[in-house]
Amino acid sequence: MMATFTRSDWQQGYRSQTEEYSYWIEEVEGQIPFEGTLFRNGPGLLDRNGQPYGHPFDGDGMVCRFTFVDGKAHFCNRFVRTPEFLAEEKAGKILYRGVFGTQKPGGWWHNIFDRKMKNITNTNVIYHGGKLLALWEGGQPYRLDPATLDTIGMENFNRALAPGQVFTAHPRRDPDTGELWGFGVEPGLKSIIRVFVVDQDGNLQEKYQTKVPGFSFLHDFAYTTNYQVFAQNPLTFDPLPFLLGFKTAGMCLELKPNTPSLLLVFDRSGHLTTYPTDPCFIFHHSNIYEEEDKLILDSVCYPTYPKLEEGVNYLEIDFDRVIPGKLERFVIDRTQKTVKRSVLLDRSCEFPALNPQYVGKKYRYVYLGCTAAEQGNAPLQAIIKLDLQTGERHIRSFAPRGFVGEPVFIPGGEGEDGGWVTTLVFNAEHNRSELFILDARNLELVGLLPLKHHIPYGLHGSFTPQVWMR
Ligand code: FE
Repeated sequence: MMATFTRSDWQQGYRSQTEEYSYWIEEVEGQIPFEGTLFRNGPGLLDRNGQPYGHPFDGDGMVCRFTFVDGKAHFCNRFVRTPEFLAEEKAGKILYRGVFGTQKPGGWWHNIFDRKMKNITNTNVIYHGGKLLALWEGGQPYRLDPATLDTIGMENFNRALAPGQVFTAHPRRDPDTGELWGFGVEPGLKSIIRVFVVDQDGNLQEKYQTKVPGFSFLHDFAYTTNYQVFAQNPLTFDPLPFLLGFKTAGMCLELKPNTPSLLLVFDRSGHLTTYPTDPCFIFHHSNIYEEEDKLILDSVCYPTYPKLEEGVNYLEIDFDRVIPGKLERFVIDRTQKTVKRSVLLDRSCEFPALNPQYVGKKYRYVYLGCTAAEQGNAPLQAIIKLDLQTGERHIRSFAPRGFVGEPVFIPGGEGEDGGWVTTLVFNAEHNRSELFILDARNLELVGLLPLKHHIPYGLHGSFTPQVWMR
């Protein structure tokens, strides 16, 4: 099969961005048909003074802010200034091991998600309850000033999060109540799952907590008003190689052979029902909704855990050997106690997104980053819109020299797909990143906002109609 990209192009998107910018974007092509602010988060540094991090997930969080106002756009990026970031900046070298791939002899292990480790705050960013929060699942959120992106400090919601209690990078906002639901996991031989709600004033409350058997690596959850659902992948954690310093924590995770994955279904009072299904590994859920006595859950599924290998440089990975994630549907029958699975999108994809007004509700359209070719595996180079009712799809490809990030849906106009989809694309030809605004109905180009520089491949972000900049 013809390659849709060159490795050297793709690698260019994994260079550190050490500069912090603030400027109005010039040479906007097309239109900016809405006002508001798009926040993005992701690793800004992939190395510290030339010492490479072993995995991009270990890179220090850098928040980007796109302000859209009066048909113009302003860009600003700032690092999240955690004490660990400042210490490493001062030392000019790596002082902490990373969870995924960065080795540094250090004296900690006990909880791989212990608060004593470097909080890299690189995974998501959301404005809620008057607070701009940079999120990473192994620690507590960091609050930023949305007007300046200055780091205010760690946010424990008036001590509602006890020391060591963590908060997910994947909260879900209930479109009816405006509450932000999230969770935190304390992994161990038995894992404690705590479910939290943050109200519209930014106050956090624990709704319930449960201990579940086995190690839990829960990156995301799915939310309806009545149920919260987690996919517990059958992973084991062998701490010994990590303790001895041979491997990072992330390399010590293994998928247990012939062990089912578990769908953990909590009702609002925290009562748990567990549904086994065929082994698979899930990072992200698209959405879930209730239909009579069934729960319909859509998730990006990998047939096995995409294990981190020691001594393999992530920039040199062989995409042909990387297992693609595909969008699957789980129909959880609460009466029959069964789970039926089917593939919705048989193509390597990640970063599912939808109209946020449909979180927890029956929905029709899902947007994802996907490969430019229908088969095989490669970096994400296209955005796809999938109609879950008819199977119809729209694709906008940026291959061969463009590499996409997460799509973010911005509501506006009639119906579920009335609005726009934005994605930040690394353009290797111009050695810069470009924000694309696409029509959410057909993925036609609406606006193209070129930056003056690149932003390393990012993770997640969110949109809010508020602006802090005129
Ligand atoms: Fe994620």
